[in-house]
Amino acid sequence: HIQRTENYMVMEFLSRSSNESFARTAVATFAAQLDPTLDEIGDIKTAVSEAVTNSIVHGYPNTLGKIVVKVRILEKNTLEISVRDWGCGIENIDKAREPMFTTGGEERSGMGFTIMESFTDRMRVKSKLGHGTTVVMQKRIAPRMR
Ligand code: ATP
Ligand code: MG
Repeated sequence: HIQRTENYMVMEFLSRSSNESFARTAVATFAAQLDPTLDEIGDIKTAVSEAVTNSIVHGYPNTLGKIVVKVRILEKNTLEISVRDWGCGIENIDKAREPMFTTGGEERSGMGFTIMESFTDRMRVKSKLGHGTTVVMQKRIAPRMR
């Protein structure tokens, strides 16, 4: 079923590498209302960082473009983060998601999607060549005693 949205925020920024740390910090700050552990905050920051970095370096390799990050808080303490770009898109998503697959050459290890997948509960990738890419991740934050 469709999960109800309890809260959300949307941010838009240019694909400058300086915005990567801004994006991960902003998402972590918004997620703070779910009272996450330090480990959970670390996982969220890492996943956001990988997705935003991909949009910056792969989505817009030779240009600056728009990146939109949406964060929703769904029922059952679930955080949903989507990172979207309107860049070059991915030719073969299944292949791109494989560990150690990279088109980035020597300085990339091809582990971004694998990291996003292991640091969240669910990751979906939508992409169309020449049109852009959207990565949607969900992570449940365990409710804590106060
Ligand atoms: P690492 O993340 O370890 O530095 P990487 O970015 O190459 O290396 P992944 O993040 O797993 O590894 O991405 C795998 C491949 O998927 C990339 O090399 C690139 O070809 C493609 N890709 C990922 N995100 C995007 C995107 N937003 N736009 C276009 N291509 C992408
Ligand atoms: Mg990457």
